[in-house]
Amino acid sequence: MGSDDNGRRDVGEAAKVGLFIGGTWRDASSGATFDLIDPAREEVVGTAALADAGDTNAAIEAAEAGFAVWRKTGPWERAKVLRRVAGLLGERGEAVARSLAVACGKPLAQARGEVAGAVETIDWYADEARRIYGEVLQGRAPGQRFVVTHEPVGVVAAFTAWNFPVALVARKLAPALAAGCSIVVRPAEEGCEAVAMLVQCCVDAGVPDGVVNLLTGKPEPVADAVMASDLVRKVTFTGSVPVGQHLMRRAADTMKRVSMELGGHAPVIVWDDVDVAKAAKAAAAAKLRNNGQVCVSPTRFFVQEGIKDGFVDALAEAVKGMKLGHPLDEGTEVGPLINRRRLEAVDGMVRDTVAEGARIVTGGGRPAGMNRGYYFEPTVLDGVEDGMRVMRDEPFGPIAPMTSFKSLDEVIERANALPVGLAGYVLTGDMARAEATAAGLKVGMVGVNTYAVATAEMPFGGVKHSGFGRENGRQGILDYLDVKFTNWTMG
Ligand code: NAD
Repeated sequence: MGSDDNGRRDVGEAAKVGLFIGGTWRDASSGATFDLIDPAREEVVGTAALADAGDTNAAIEAAEAGFAVWRKTGPWERAKVLRRVAGLLGERGEAVARSLAVACGKPLAQARGEVAGAVETIDWYADEARRIYGEVLQGRAPGQRFVVTHEPVGVVAAFTAWNFPVALVARKLAPALAAGCSIVVRPAEEGCEAVAMLVQCCVDAGVPDGVVNLLTGKPEPVADAVMASDLVRKVTFTGSVPVGQHLMRRAADTMKRVSMELGGHAPVIVWDDVDVAKAAKAAAAAKLRNNGQVCVSPTRFFVQEGIKDGFVDALAEAVKGMKLGHPLDEGTEVGPLINRRRLEAVDGMVRDTVAEGARIVTGGGRPAGMNRGYYFEPTVLDGVEDGMRVMRDEPFGPIAPMTSFKSLDEVIERANALPVGLAGYVLTGDMARAEATAAGLKVGMVGVNTYAVATAEMPFGGVKHSGFGRENGRQGILDYLDVKFTNWTMG
């Protein structure tokens, strides 16, 4: 996209996404591009620039120059600029949502929700820019003050996944800018046009040149140059555990600060006092949000034994009732998966689980009559045991594995048995049960009778292999600030 079109491309027109370095949209220095694919039609819908190491080093140097300006820009001014970014993204929200729907197969209503969430995050951090508190302690001697202040860490590099292209970038860009940092963003290939639209909002809102830079293309050349650079002082990553581990190892060489928002495998603990029909309907909607390609998606259903069979049947009915279709059709609730690789992974996981002894209650393959696009039927698997692959590996797709439990201690032990711990859910009307279950789960976020755990004002993130650092909330800005202690001894 160019600097003058404000991201208002009509859908149907081919996307052309450039790099944004030091305040200028440009092609990759090699001139190379890659294709953007619509996963609902398996068609090329545009191209984007393929950044190399040279482009990455140029972006890092631009970010270093941008940092020199932005760190001296006062918090009230940073707040004003960020609030303008949020306003522009809101105004352009429909175009951004349509781009997400086409590029990621995300049903339009959900794409609108993603953009609205990104606007809220940016708006929240506009306020947080003005609330970077320090600390003062009486010194040990007369005339002495111990003072703690916070300073921006410097140039930040952000790598994000394709499942929420705009929201994931907003969760990094907004606190970074609020703190006074500059940023080099490398989004996933899928959905990068929508991220370019967000970058254009930054430009039009008056973010100075070099403060926000965008690199599109393959991750490795960008990551290699970023990790080798001493100018980049922090790396923030959203994606899978193995890539997070790889980046963390690389960060050691230049001692970069790191935040990791990685995978999960969220347990849902359904106690026998719930309204089964209502709980199953809510579970189906949560499970199929973004087609299950959500790191906090409910993925391991532990249902108390007395209601397990009834819950499985009700969930199967509920998922069958959800409308598969083209993401741009208003009624569509379930779109295609993001790419062929994900389609094959989901298909392979269902086949492996069946081979291990599970039973398909509904779904299990490509939907009849939809032989174009990366569609997969919403799938409920029963007779699942904890050792099966689907209970160990994150499904990241429309698969709901069902198992039963008897007691609190047993289900907590099983729910906590995996190395990851991102989100967990508890469904019950009994507050004592709810409290004991929520307290027992080793995760970063718990939903009690709700699946809503991602909001602008509360911290999002995991424990154990799901990573560390928090995004959103008061806590999110701390990851972009260094702590400085000054001992003021007068006279
Ligand atoms: P992935 O780790 O392969 O890819 C995620 C992103 O990282 C993509 O943009 C990819 O291009 C990029 N990437 C790949 N190799 C890289 C490298 N060497 N350096 C820098 N970036 C690199 O994961 P995936 O399978 O595409 O995405 C799904 C995973 O992401 C799931 O495990 C999911 O739970 C996780 N995820 C986590 C969150 C969260 O906030 N916790 C949010 C969304 C997705």
